[in-house]
Amino acid sequence: MRDATLCPIHPVISEAGYASLTVPTHRASTIVFPDAAAYATRGQRDLDGYSYGLHGTPTNRVLEAQLTALEGGQHTVLLPSGQAAIAVVFLAMLKPGDTVMIPDSAYPPVLGFCQNFLGPLGIGHRIYRPDAGDLAAQIDASVKLIWMESPGSTTMEVQDVPAIVALAGRHGIRTGIDNTWATPLLFKPLAHGVDFSMQALTKYVGGHSDLLMGSVSVADAGLRRLMRDQMRMLGLGVPPDAVALALRGIETMAVRLAHQGRVALEIAQTLSARGIGEVLHPALPSCPGHSLFKRDFAGASGVFSVVLPDATRLNAALDALRVFAIGASWGGTRSLMAPMTISRATPHPRNAKTILRLQIGLEDPADLRADLDAFCAILTPEKADV
Ligand SMILES: *Cc1c(COP(=O)(O)O)cnc(C)c1O
Repeated sequence: MRDATLCPIHPVISEAGYASLTVPTHRASTIVFPDAAAYATRGQRDLDGYSYGLHGTPTNRVLEAQLTALEGGQHTVLLPSGQAAIAVVFLAMLKPGDTVMIPDSAYPPVLGFCQNFLGPLGIGHRIYRPDAGDLAAQIDASVKLIWMESPGSTTMEVQDVPAIVALAGRHGIRTGIDNTWATPLLFKPLAHGVDFSMQALTKYVGGHSDLLMGSVSVADAGLRRLMRDQMRMLGLGVPPDAVALALRGIETMAVRLAHQGRVALEIAQTLSARGIGEVLHPALPSCPGHSLFKRDFAGASGVFSVVLPDATRLNAALDALRVFAIGASWGGTRSLMAPMTISRATPHPRNAKTILRLQIGLEDPADLRADLDAFCAILTPEKADV
């Protein structure tokens, strides 16, 4: 062959005798087939096979299988973000005329998706209180999916997942949960009968604030097919280079999560004792759903909130931080603080209050405590000597 032909055709090299602890990054758009018959039947292959790079390469399959094992499921799909993962579950389950139930504590873009994307398609949504019994009363024949998030973003309500799954089962309704806070290391939704277990891998799996990805794990092949159909139509897949970052992150996730969970609880207890506000951490009795947390979870991760009765000096206190950074995400190595306002559709005792969400990273806890001392001294100077 001539040089111009030798350039694009890679020689086939044997992998015999090669073993590595790392997963190769297989990039691909085009997938080729050994013969014409295999090409002709490519669309009828099982969903673990390979037909086009968008639908996954062996690199993607490794992460899918690893998450499936952790979740105790049968199948996992990977999406370009946590938000996309939620959207694909909703689109897989809902058609015009249907309704989805979402908790008032959900990650806020979920409500935006329901209002601005699903609404114009004729798909309804209803908001239920995450910690109260108004879910059952709102269920009718149009409800096809009950979404959960436990603990809820920012306000940290722990939901009674087994009770909600039982309620859904009596009505033949599917259930899904955003399990980003706990990860399957601390809570296994599928073992409680939840149909869709979703995670923003962006957070604890990625672990280094440099990755966006989401996953949904299921125990039912039919549900995976419904999600894969949506992904195919929308052209959603994840690049193997990003998967490689997730595969690196997941190797250390258990150690990071254990450390971050332990330090976060210590800091939550310290802040609670200082009286700067109501500390919402599922492992503390003051958190709504604390008894459910003790019953269902294997431990806590590194994110919690404080409701601030007086936020007049909050900006000055934030600006004085030296170790904590100001930012809203979580799961990375750096500790973060994010000021937010609680805005609820349903009656809520803390509505319109300022809330501070903390993510604890991997810095030395003594440096975090020193930073918090300075923060609290500015925020609540009258309590500085506590
Ligand atoms: C970050 C987050 C998401 C969205 O994940 P992205 O990858 O940022 O889209 C969804 N749910 C929860 C609870 C999150 O913290």
